[in-house]
Amino acid sequence: MSATGETVAETVAGEELEVWIDQDLCTGDGICVQYAPEVFELDIDGLAYVRDGESDELLQQPGDTVPVPLTLLQDVVDSAKECPGDCIHVRRVRDKVEVFGPDAE
Ligand code: SF4
Repeated sequence: MSATGETVAETVAGEELEVWIDQDLCTGDGICVQYAPEVFELDIDGLAYVRDGESDELLQQPGDTVPVPLTLLQDVVDSAKECPGDCIHVRRVRDKVEVFGPDAE
């Protein structure tokens, strides 16, 4: 999370965000799916993947991203915060800078 103690809205500042999961670190506990089932889903391999909101498909290539809808932002941020694998990455679309997740500054 933000080291400066900003709120989620302050950190995002109206930017479009996208999210991806590093499956190599996913423990398969499903916490993200509980928080945001519209964005995350466990596949039969027991790992979590991001879901394309338009096609409803799971995206399973390493590093695949989906947009974070504003209405689900808090749920996605909470997922990244609680993820025991530290493997949910939320970044700005514009410059690919991670704003929530293990690599956020
Ligand atoms: S919360 Fe993290 S570790 Fe748990 S299933 Fe989701 S991505 Fe995997």
